[in-house]
Amino acid sequence: MDLRFWGVRGSLATPLTNAALKAKIAEILKLGVEAGLNAEFQISDFMNSLPPYLLQTAGGDTTCVEINTGGEVIILDAGTGIRPLGLNLLERFSGKPVEANILLSHIHWDHICGIPFFIPGYIPGNNINLYASHPNIEKRINNQQKTPYFPVPLGKSYNFIQLKNQDGSAKKKFKIGNVDVETMPLHHPGGSFGYRVSHSGKTIVFATDAEYKDPSSVALKPYVEFFRNADVLIFDAQYTFVENVEKEDWGHSNVFTGVDIALEAGVKNLLITHHEPTYSDSVLWKNLQKARDYLNTMDPDSDMNVEIAIEGFKLSL
Ligand SMILES: [Zn+2]
Ligand SMILES: [Zn+2]
Repeated sequence: MDLRFWGVRGSLATPLTNAALKAKIAEILKLGVEAGLNAEFQISDFMNSLPPYLLQTAGGDTTCVEINTGGEVIILDAGTGIRPLGLNLLERFSGKPVEANILLSHIHWDHICGIPFFIPGYIPGNNINLYASHPNIEKRINNQQKTPYFPVPLGKSYNFIQLKNQDGSAKKKFKIGNVDVETMPLHHPGGSFGYRVSHSGKTIVFATDAEYKDPSSVALKPYVEFFRNADVLIFDAQYTFVENVEKEDWGHSNVFTGVDIALEAGVKNLLITHHEPTYSDSVLWKNLQKARDYLNTMDPDSDMNVEIAIEGFKLSL
């Protein structure tokens, strides 16, 4: 399975500002002066010595993650990151009908606001299956593009699949081709759903917009089981620990809780996402360092890899 992040920001799209770019350049120049940089041939080594937050940006698009199994394209959430993914899919399918599956965690704006800009949804002959557990999903997605909120209605290439059993309960397991998908309700205002996607012996869990209020092992057990032995856990850690306490019931988590649950579950790669819009790249990478330090304190022998999700980040399993 190939994993790629197209959008990683929580709540609201957050482009890098001119002021932030200027500050990065100023810091790089300062470090260059300190390093005694005075010839062009030294630049490459100097660039390689720079901290990641100066050379990269986590990105500004809201949540959108792609899993490609070779046979199936699975899109986790449709934040603004789905706009460039749509253009990329048109290139990849090169004139053939685009076949893709969108799994929605929930329908807060930051997770659906890319749909009006997802070009494959408007092209006849394409087949976009949109899965969700929330009721009346077709109506809710259509409403987003109603006059006067958007100039054109939703495209006609969507098939809506309500994840519901005949008795009305939420569907916990289903298949997309030969890919196994499990769902899990998460604690979030209005409810959110996690997805556990397994194919060819590998598993990716997507668990965004979730708060874990009760840190007791009994309360965390269902989540630990859902995340069990995942090759990748994509985890909402929007806040610092202090903010998480202050913003109780806002529906998000922090890196320390992420490390605790992932360790308990035997996760191999913990990818932190749904970045707070007010956080600079510097703050995000500092939070990553805190997560790694905490992991080292909790289990110095752990070989779990912790990263922050950044736009364009790819992983092949
Ligand atoms: Zn969100
Ligand atoms: Zn939300």
